[in-house]
Amino acid sequence: MTAPYAGGCRCGAVRFEASAEPHHVSYCHCGDCRRASGAPVSAFVGFLVDQVAFTGKALKMYENGPVTRSFCGTCGSPIAYVDERLEEDIYFMLGAMDMPADFQPTLHAYIGEQLAFLHMSDDLPRHLKSSVKRPDGTVP
Ligand SMILES: [Zn+2]
Ligand SMILES: [Zn+2]
Repeated sequence: MTAPYAGGCRCGAVRFEASAEPHHVSYCHCGDCRRASGAPVSAFVGFLVDQVAFTGKALKMYENGPVTRSFCGTCGSPIAYVDERLEEDIYFMLGAMDMPADFQPTLHAYIGEQLAFLHMSDDLPRHLKSSVKRPDGTVP
């Protein structure tokens, strides 16, 4: 696989393209992602914000503390999130990518919130909370 990588929502009103390689692919088991996605576990593909371009006018935002999640205002598909503590990054829902099979997660985050009935038999690193350090050195 090589850049650019495209993606979009279920109805096609939101489209995006990333011009470089992702720097991060992970599962997230946190309750906030679970609410936002409706799925027992989420997966994200991280790029640098300035390597990403959106097209279409349907993108909506929902701000919750430091995290702003985006979704399609027409079909409701979750698209991405940004975290003001990681201002250079944007994390797309893996399922929003056109070629999701190209983005194999490399770790699990927030396994402290993982649903007990969910079993994923891989040997990837498992982080109790976030896997990404904030600029102030903390890991929320
Ligand atoms: Zn849509
Ligand atoms: Zn999460």
